[in-house]
Amino acid sequence: MKNSESMFQSCIICEEEKKQGIFLYTSFICQECETGILQTETSDPIYHYYLDKLKMITLPQSFL
Ligand SMILES: [Zn+2]
Repeated sequence: MKNSESMFQSCIICEEEKKQGIFLYTSFICQECETGILQTETSDPIYHYYLDKLKMITLPQSFL
């Protein structure tokens, strides 16, 4: 059943299983959260919530 692998992924932000989204390095972010991050002002407290979650991703140094 290898085909089912790409169906649902667990989003690192909302921790829900979603079908649509992006992979940031090895971590999956669902489309809703991705849109949420992009539409959030950096002065908004929720932005820091997103940032906290994103910090859990181990990024290659060259990424940022
Ligand atoms: Zn999500």
